[in-house]
Amino acid sequence: MLAENLQQVRERIAKACARANRHPDSVKLLAVTKIFGPEVIQEAYALGLREFGENYVQEMERKAPVVSGLEGARFHLIGHLQSNKTKKASQLFSSIDSVESAKLARRLAAEGVPLDIMIEIKTSDEESKTGAPEGELPEIVEAVRAHPNLHLRGLMTVPPWSEDAELSRPYFAHLRELAALHRIPELSMGMSNDMEVAIEEGATWVRVGTALFGRRKKV
Ligand SMILES: *Cc1c(COP(=O)(O)O)cnc(C)c1O
Repeated sequence: MLAENLQQVRERIAKACARANRHPDSVKLLAVTKIFGPEVIQEAYALGLREFGENYVQEMERKAPVVSGLEGARFHLIGHLQSNKTKKASQLFSSIDSVESAKLARRLAAEGVPLDIMIEIKTSDEESKTGAPEGELPEIVEAVRAHPNLHLRGLMTVPPWSEDAELSRPYFAHLRELAALHRIPELSMGMSNDMEVAIEEGATWVRVGTALFGRRKKV
């Protein structure tokens, strides 16, 4: 099952890259394993996946004893991080992809460990969405770049969910423009339903859960 799904996702990425005149290696796959048990991470690792996305610090804490021995596996936090959880987050994750304030960046810096950082931008007006308002981006970029243990890799965004992937395009295009403005190299955008559009708009990371692992049960 997972092996077939992975092959399909890789084909989708390859086709989108071909359409966009991009090399397939220019898009990295972040396997989103939230809600699934650590055995799913082990299975994905056995198939060659190395980059994993988790949404919750506590959930990662439960899985860590099982998966921390997987050599070369890297875990990204892609969900909201509370400022009182930065210590745990800095121990559990190689990359914090959901930094949404300068204050949070400074707290992560103070933990003193090397971390890859992405800044999450709220590109839509939707109330429920996480991420920083784009007006705060310059301040957050400055806060991250001021600390040598933080490595600013990219910008991340989650557009409003829609059946129609085309509706995500303007949000993806806008994120690309913001990254160019600040000379930020990576773009984490696109999920199971809209990864092709994200790749056409320049995604260097797609975050894929459902298309790999199936539907998540509600918690
Ligand atoms: C859950 C989640 C994903 C994966 O979504 P799918 O639609 O299952 O591929 C990607 N990014 C974030 C931030 C998520 O919370």
